[in-house]
Amino acid sequence: MNTQGMDTRFERASIRIDAEGQGAVPKLSDLRDIAARLRFAPQDGRIWLDDERAVLLRASVFAALRRELLESLGVDKARALLTRIGYSAGARDASLAISLRGSRELIDVFAVGPQMHALEGFVAVEPIRIDIDVEKGVHYVEQIWHDSMEASAHIEAAGLATESVCWMQIGYASGFNSALFGRPILFREMSCRGAGDPHCHIIGKPVDEWCDVEADLRFLSPEDFVNAALVRRRTPFQDAAGAPVSASDTDFMVGASSGFLSACNKLQQVAGTNAAVLLLGETGVGKERFAKMLHRVSRRAAEPFVALNCAAIPENLLEAELFGVERGAYTGAGEARKGRFERADRGTLFLDEIGTLNEAAQAKLLRALQEREIERVGGSASRSVDVRVVAATNVDLAAAVKAGQFRADLYYRLNVFPIRIPPLRERRDDIALLVNHFLTKFMAAHGKRVSGFTHRAIAALLGYDYPGNVRELENLIERGIIMAPESKAIDRHHLFQPEEAPPEPILGMDPRGSVRPLNPAEQTVEPDETAVQDIVERALDLAMPLRALERGAIREAVKRAGGNLSHAARLLGMSRAQLAYRLEKDKEE
Ligand code: ZN
Repeated sequence: MNTQGMDTRFERASIRIDAEGQGAVPKLSDLRDIAARLRFAPQDGRIWLDDERAVLLRASVFAALRRELLESLGVDKARALLTRIGYSAGARDASLAISLRGSRELIDVFAVGPQMHALEGFVAVEPIRIDIDVEKGVHYVEQIWHDSMEASAHIEAAGLATESVCWMQIGYASGFNSALFGRPILFREMSCRGAGDPHCHIIGKPVDEWCDVEADLRFLSPEDFVNAALVRRRTPFQDAAGAPVSASDTDFMVGASSGFLSACNKLQQVAGTNAAVLLLGETGVGKERFAKMLHRVSRRAAEPFVALNCAAIPENLLEAELFGVERGAYTGAGEARKGRFERADRGTLFLDEIGTLNEAAQAKLLRALQEREIERVGGSASRSVDVRVVAATNVDLAAAVKAGQFRADLYYRLNVFPIRIPPLRERRDDIALLVNHFLTKFMAAHGKRVSGFTHRAIAALLGYDYPGNVRELENLIERGIIMAPESKAIDRHHLFQPEEAPPEPILGMDPRGSVRPLNPAEQTVEPDETAVQDIVERALDLAMPLRALERGAIREAVKRAGGNLSHAARLLGMSRAQLAYRLEKDKEE
């Protein structure tokens, strides 16, 4: 059995469940495999759902939380927040669905969403009509939700509503379907028990098949996730004149993960001040977009935003570039010219890769920040400038200071307000949102329609580590749209070149004899009993504590994997989350 056959079957398959048409009550598959992922470890004070920690939260506590949310945020913001949380959880469970049932029928993979919802105690799902055909671009899901916990909680918190209230669950359904099929799918409640109906009746379709989606998208559109995080005192992501910020500026500002939203919150906190900001993060996380956004929501928004990548300018020209040149300062400087500082006067100057500045430039920059004045190269007159500096770096500046490569005084000037933008692999929940976002963007840009992604492509996108971060993901999606045939689904080979493709999932046989991709914890060969015996005996002979043995194994695996935790986890036969937890624990001890 090879993965090729498996995936073709999945991709071509369609789900069609229709109670009336078939004369049989449609049924979702057995959920024991998901239930087996739920493990209670009371001795550690932990509950595990797959490789994530979970808690038991009583419905009355959820209702109390909801009441507080409604009272402190108001209905709209509480709804946005809960929809977002649900969307994020749904997107995450799409990865679980693929790792758990990737090789089975499409209906089984799809069923993970409703079944997780049931297992977590939110709702009992009764499918009415499910019609999904990836190749034809058909997506229609109609279900009844019986006895929704969220509806009960809302009634308990705020009484009977006039509109549907299962916001978190609707977010979940939209997130799960959008992530699993790689296209924006929107769910709506046609009726809701929270509004006095006997049960909740939901329908999910591609966003472009609904009318009047603005209200729903206010809570679900990627940009609004950021906007919602920034709604505090000022209107979100509008420039000084009140016009909304254009889509291209918000391009990388898409996400619902806690790491991303925390960076956005910090951005919002500091935007209204004149403080210097230092943006920290790997290449491709969108540092310049963050800087632009900071400028757009600041009081300087009507003034210029000037950017300079310090690493892109030859060292001998850098000073002239930053501070300008007087006429005849050196050969070739025929005319006097303003530098970036002068051009950014009253506005914002963004200095990328600040760690590459040489000693002379560092000294001049420090002076400009301290004295608020500059001197052009070849001139002696001081010119005062009013510039807010936003610097960015992908190197550890504190370490560079220790090593004597970067001035400590300049570092403290720049590091007044650091904001760390997490790499994409630390905000995996956002991958699905970003995929949807770039899909829409590049279909419009290239005037081409595709029907979505094949299961294989989605599995690869959700499983990849993205060393090039959001920029790399953006390039992959653009390439996919160009490579895929018109109105067909984007497949894995349209996204990745053979040499850069992430590893294929390893297939294994489960106890009932069906072949499926193994989850990382299972991707090890059965240990050889005599080898185990040998190691055990040697460890006991040396009176070696079990913890030391475990730690040694973990350290060695991380080393062999070159620091790639997913790879190291595979070597150890555990999940990435479990490995990260052990490493964290080792650090604490
Ligand atoms: Zn409802």
